[in-house]
Amino acid sequence: MVHRERLRCPVCRARFRGDITCSRCGAGLRRLMELAMQAFRLRERARSALDAGDLTSATRHIDRAQCCHATEIGSKLERLTRLLMKAN
Ligand SMILES: [Zn+2]
Repeated sequence: MVHRERLRCPVCRARFRGDITCSRCGAGLRRLMELAMQAFRLRERARSALDAGDLTSATRHIDRAQCCHATEIGSKLERLTRLLMKAN
């Protein structure tokens, strides 16, 4: 599942609806979709790293995820990881 929050067509700012073409202006959105998918996979890797207690990897994955597509859940994962890093 791709998180679509805050994703908008870079041309006309229409809300991203998960299609590779903007329904309003026809712009190609394949790259936008790929970035959202990459961010999703990186958040999954961050969660797995957290489960394994590997805070360094978790930090790296969540930082990359937020660069690709910043989401609220990514922000929460980022804060949680930083808190755990401070506690260790
Ligand atoms: Zn558009």
